[in-house]
Amino acid sequence: MTRLDPFFTAALARIDRAGQRRVLRPAALAAEGRIVREGRRLIDFSSNDYLGLARHPELSARAVAWTQALGTGSGASRLVTGTSAEQLALEARIARFKHAEAALIFASGWQANAAVIAALAAAVPGLAVYTDRLIHASMHAGLAMAGVRQIRFRHNDLDHLETLLASKGADAPARLILTESVFSMDGDRADLPRLAAIAEAHQAALYVDEAHATGVLGPAGAGLCAQVPGQVDLVMGTFSKALGGFGAYVAGSQALIDYLVNTASGFIFTTAPPPAMLGAIDAALDLVPTLEAERVHLAALGVQLRTGLRALGLDCGESSTQIVPAVIGAEADALALSARLEDAGFLVSAIRPPTVPPGTSRLRIALRAGHSAADVDALLTALGDAR
Ligand code: PMP
Repeated sequence: MTRLDPFFTAALARIDRAGQRRVLRPAALAAEGRIVREGRRLIDFSSNDYLGLARHPELSARAVAWTQALGTGSGASRLVTGTSAEQLALEARIARFKHAEAALIFASGWQANAAVIAALAAAVPGLAVYTDRLIHASMHAGLAMAGVRQIRFRHNDLDHLETLLASKGADAPARLILTESVFSMDGDRADLPRLAAIAEAHQAALYVDEAHATGVLGPAGAGLCAQVPGQVDLVMGTFSKALGGFGAYVAGSQALIDYLVNTASGFIFTTAPPPAMLGAIDAALDLVPTLEAERVHLAALGVQLRTGLRALGLDCGESSTQIVPAVIGAEADALALSARLEDAGFLVSAIRPPTVPPGTSRLRIALRAGHSAADVDALLTALGDAR
């Protein structure tokens, strides 16, 4: 019992009244698109391990090798003693992968977005920031830390963005557009060529979160920013999803990276990433360009799944990737459907407010390269039965 418990209890009661209480349940990723949850082996349509690298022997072998060579901890923050030669080499490698001048590794994607966006806003007092309504919570955290009032455009509605650019923030010292290349809960894509042209026309900088595209889309899995070479000012992505590891990168100009090293709180005041994490990333970067067949397979599974969901009368929005929502509507219905699927042997998360807007609770189906066409058919059959 702590002195603050009455406050926690009151807050939890509010969460309960809204039917939004969450609990942690143990699970362990397995190969072939499976997961073991509470002793049961389920077909996993919930994890972001899109390429199956989280259980890849080369990643674990290199994590072990780097641990044996360099230790379990990095000892200090990056500017003190936490920068290994291996980490600098890895950052140079990521910069090449993203065709950028330089790159910087962060402890996590959440931390990268929050730290970088807060630092950008601090560099430019009065920065006008235009955000897609569905950007990730970590970008909102960075903007909130910096006290920035967002100018929000409707999701992927670039006409709306253009209207806002014409009517608001024209007198700001600089302008910044924030978006994701693949949206995490909808699996749809930003129109990067048009966004880049709009950014150019309005002299705005462009920041793109490639968390769900890295490894899965673009040439050699390098993400969608490859469609607009040299036109995205700042790209971030995670190692925690298709790359099967943990952590994140930010890539851009050398001036940007030098500025972040000198000012980004979430970079400076945290211990450098452990060698195991860096080793796994290094191995993932070796493998990702070779996984074209897996990328083609994931795309085919996406088409199969969307066709099947639509045949069941389910709305999967504008998804065109390995993330496919089945929008159900009411929270209770999405939860009930997810529970019935779990009974039938499938792990499919129900995503509900505040993660998605009210009334759009959904099943978020994440495809993994380890799935077969038969797995997707089995899921569709189970969904049909469960409804
Ligand atoms: N950006 C997006 C779009 C995400 O979906 C996520 C993960 N949920 C993050 C950033 C945060 O990345 P990480 O999980 O590595 O902290």
